[in-house]
Amino acid sequence: MHNNTRLLHERIDITDTFPVVTPIFQNSAFEAHSPYFYTRKDNPNVVELEQVMRILEESEHAVCCSTGMAAIASVLQLLKPGDCLVVNRLIYGCSYKLFQRYCDQFQISLHLLDLSDSAGITAIPDHVSMVLFESPTNPFVNTLSIQQIANAAKSKNPKALVVVDNTWATPLYQQPLKWGADIALYSATKYFSGHSDVMGGVLTTNDKEIYNQLRDTRFYQGAVLDPNSAWLLRRSMQTFHIRMKAHAETTVIIRDWLSKHPGVIKVYYPEIDGVQLTGYATLLFFDLREDLIDDYPEFIKALQWFDTGTGMACVTSMIARPFTGSHASMADAEKATIGLTPQLVRLSIGLENTQDLIDDLSQAFEAIGIRQ
Ligand code: PLP
Repeated sequence: MHNNTRLLHERIDITDTFPVVTPIFQNSAFEAHSPYFYTRKDNPNVVELEQVMRILEESEHAVCCSTGMAAIASVLQLLKPGDCLVVNRLIYGCSYKLFQRYCDQFQISLHLLDLSDSAGITAIPDHVSMVLFESPTNPFVNTLSIQQIANAAKSKNPKALVVVDNTWATPLYQQPLKWGADIALYSATKYFSGHSDVMGGVLTTNDKEIYNQLRDTRFYQGAVLDPNSAWLLRRSMQTFHIRMKAHAETTVIIRDWLSKHPGVIKVYYPEIDGVQLTGYATLLFFDLREDLIDDYPEFIKALQWFDTGTGMACVTSMIARPFTGSHASMADAEKATIGLTPQLVRLSIGLENTQDLIDDLSQAFEAIGIRQ
């Protein structure tokens, strides 16, 4: 019988290969003298992506996780029993469910406040340990003042941590750490990937101690990004600026077209103040006319260029209803408290030809009897 021991150990010398793109380090283990040790701790593809993220965020540190939810769960582990978590009431449905479950399990008090107005900011409790919010928010793309919230939280408790889920602005258009946030977090599954083919999460911070804690959590929890996804994300980041610009240009045109359409009551688009938020790309919400709610299935069936489902911020346009989609895990009563109705439709504008998208929406409205 053939002795395959040599075969098991056979490797070519890659020292002098000099590839123009970093190869995928699809390995869990490194030799004992390697600085990489073990992929659950560090992997060259993950480290390269973290370097890209640090440059984009202009931050000291970045930690890449397996998904956006893993990034949020890692942040929650900075809290301890008896702590107080404040969350803006408009938040992604699964984040909300995670906060509820986690706080319940670990005896952390959870306060849902409306941080878009000064009454809500003033109501931040004196014993606050962490404030976490999205800006712009999912749903409704409301913008919140990071500086005002950070100042209020730290005036109540100087040790309070401020965490901004910056998924919808991205560091291209908003850099939360510059406005007083301790951590910015991202679902890399969205714009950073941009192609609906990879999941990931990113955390950035300027605080070395927070960085070390987040890295430890990732290591012991096993929430690290895999090398393949890191490689894909790193490649996607090479077209990030160009994609964002194209998304942004088409989205404004569709926003304006929708706001004049007789089938639409209201369009939600964030307030770009040019200071904290300097631009915006793709996510739009609109209220369908109430008498058209039952026609929604027919409307989406007629669409040719909008895919249905959970994808967002990707090259192809998407349509979904948060009531039954992204926020389905919330009880109807909870949805009611944040004004989430079945009328609300979410569009993610892709990179298709703008006129094609307008023609498509127009013919889908016509299919349910609404002409412009
Ligand atoms: N944060 C926001 C604002 C989101 O919309 C989502 C998902 O849609 C997440 C976090 C979770 O990210 P992931 O799906 O990558 O776990």
